[in-house]
Amino acid sequence: MKITEIVTYHLSHELEQPFESASMLFTSRDHLLIEIHCDNGLVGWGECLGNRIVNDAFIQAMKPHLIGKNALNIEPIWLKLYNIFRDQGQRGATINAISGIDIALWDLAGKYHQCPTHQLLGGAFREQIPVYATGGFRLVGQDRIESLLEEVSGYKQAGFKAVKIKIGFGIGLDIASIKAVRQCLGEDIELMIDANHGYDHIDAARVANAVSDCDLLWFEEPVVPEALSSYHKLRSSQAIPLAGGETWHTRWGINEALKQNTVDILQPDVCGVGGLSEAKKVLTLCDIYGVRCVPHVWGTSVALAAGLHFHAIIPPSPPSYGCTPDSPRFEYDQTHNPFRSSIVTQPFELNDGYLTVPQGHGLGIEIRPEELAKYRPKV
Ligand SMILES: [Mg+2]
Repeated sequence: MKITEIVTYHLSHELEQPFESASMLFTSRDHLLIEIHCDNGLVGWGECLGNRIVNDAFIQAMKPHLIGKNALNIEPIWLKLYNIFRDQGQRGATINAISGIDIALWDLAGKYHQCPTHQLLGGAFREQIPVYATGGFRLVGQDRIESLLEEVSGYKQAGFKAVKIKIGFGIGLDIASIKAVRQCLGEDIELMIDANHGYDHIDAARVANAVSDCDLLWFEEPVVPEALSSYHKLRSSQAIPLAGGETWHTRWGINEALKQNTVDILQPDVCGVGGLSEAKKVLTLCDIYGVRCVPHVWGTSVALAAGLHFHAIIPPSPPSYGCTPDSPRFEYDQTHNPFRSSIVTQPFELNDGYLTVPQGHGLGIEIRPEELAKYRPKV
């Protein structure tokens, strides 16, 4: 099955209500998809996390190294691309681009072998995956606490069992927001906070200690991802489990982070960590270091599908006899994004708080090309 063509698709949708995290203002939703064609007529889809323009530049540079190659040689292709482009960066766009290519190759492999991708990755531990709602960004031009409470009330009414909100907007405002949200949700809904690396370890500890009675499941990206020692210090200066890893890349990057006792919960993103090939290796690291794996997910239906196949293969931890421990929850972004549903023939739907792992061949999704064309950005 030889690779004959690689096509990238830029998707952009302007938001009516811009929102912000501690590190970024979102005025539009932007994503990059990759489509790999083969000489037997099969086509595979992948997606890259991060800036679509930068990622596409890397994919264009990688293209000549892919045309004519056997698409089933996924590991050799991964290593070849990494070796050629290592000097351009061992993280970031280099690995985001490889991730998108790798996911498309796993989609192709599943289609070729006529089975779901997760089966080729070793098989699923679960087919139904409980989700948590990701939201609580700061809405531009609106009262922070009022709009936040309105949003999380909606998640409670919709039946979500776990909710993650954004912080990193100032110590006082964050503490007030977290306490208000906990009170609004009650005791039975899990609550997580994500600072998108908006603090240093001193201020992060002040926030964490002030909300220690709010029963938080985790504190995500409290500090910048390269400050591994700050993660380590924060673990000993407050009691909330720390989570992070959405911008840590490859087995080498994640090994370095875990070696330094940074997090209790690792959050690799399959579209950024190096694709499904690398994500599987990262699971081994989680096992060795005794770290829980709860992946990061942010993107279109392609990222959701790839994320669900990855989630399916996360081993239960600990592997108890006679019972199936709950799956880690799947990150289900609730911000406005038409690409979560419009670009596939059968959008993912929540069923009683669970998403179903696709059972079709490959990633198990069918793209609607006419929808992709609608969202082509005007350059
Ligand atoms: Mg995050």
